[in-house]
Amino acid sequence: MTRSPHPPRWLAALAVPLLLAGAGLGGCGEGALRRSRGAPAAAAAPADPDPAAPPSVRDPYAAARRRMVAEQIEARGVTDPRVLAAMRTVPRHAFVPESVREDAYRDHPLPIGHGQTISQPYIVAVMTELARVEAGARVLEVGTGSGYQAAVLAELTDAVYTIEIVEGLANAAARTLAELGYGSVRTRHGDGYRGWPEAAPFDAILVTAAAPAVPPALLEQLRVGGRLVIPVGDAYQELEVHTRTAEAVEVRRALPVRFVPMTGEIEKDRR
Ligand code: SAH
Repeated sequence: MTRSPHPPRWLAALAVPLLLAGAGLGGCGEGALRRSRGAPAAAAAPADPDPAAPPSVRDPYAAARRRMVAEQIEARGVTDPRVLAAMRTVPRHAFVPESVREDAYRDHPLPIGHGQTISQPYIVAVMTELARVEAGARVLEVGTGSGYQAAVLAELTDAVYTIEIVEGLANAAARTLAELGYGSVRTRHGDGYRGWPEAAPFDAILVTAAAPAVPPALLEQLRVGGRLVIPVGDAYQELEVHTRTAEAVEVRRALPVRFVPMTGEIEKDRR
């Protein structure tokens, strides 16, 4: 991954104290779009942070992000140190609209426009851990949304591909990723139902919208030993891990989740 040498623009954003909600199942789900009452007002950060200042001053969200990882993610059993480091690094507040920025490090999904949501931080961490992304691994994400999950993956490997079906979100995410120095992420506007054949095979594929059944092309685009992490179901969904072996595909159910439904070609199967 290539990171910009300049201090990113999100450093100039607002500081926010963090209130924690209870544990949830929030993937990309509208269901968990509650706001905690009585949230303290955000404090203004310096407009032009001093690049020589300690990190806590340059990034007013650093403490909130560390607390998010400790209290929402480590406390619930995510242990992979590379995943925890990535979650401590990616500026989640820079991926959400300004109107909800003060809630960026809270324990639930947030709206990102076009009726879609950025997943709860814990769910992003769990999916990333289940995908077991080694340095150099080739990874596909279906459902770019804000670009946040793609940025977390880009902290782990240089070969991240991500597809988004809503053009406005695809364009906005590509811009955000580039601005924050995640220029190595390959973005595409389109239907992820058929994967990204030209870039296959993948070591891991993450789908961040719920599918009634696993799209066959995604399993075909896994290399042997590769993992597909995908929420499967309609009203009731489970996060599944499909591991491709030489002869078959092994399936394991990880946890119940709630994501927005996958749209596009897969909807034909629903009718
Ligand atoms: N991973 C995102 C959150 C995703 S929300 C993040 O980190 O912010 C689910 C996203 O999947 C939505 O943006 C939705 O538009 C997208 N989506 C739904 N069906 C899709 C499909 N068939 N192909 C690609 N993207 C799809």
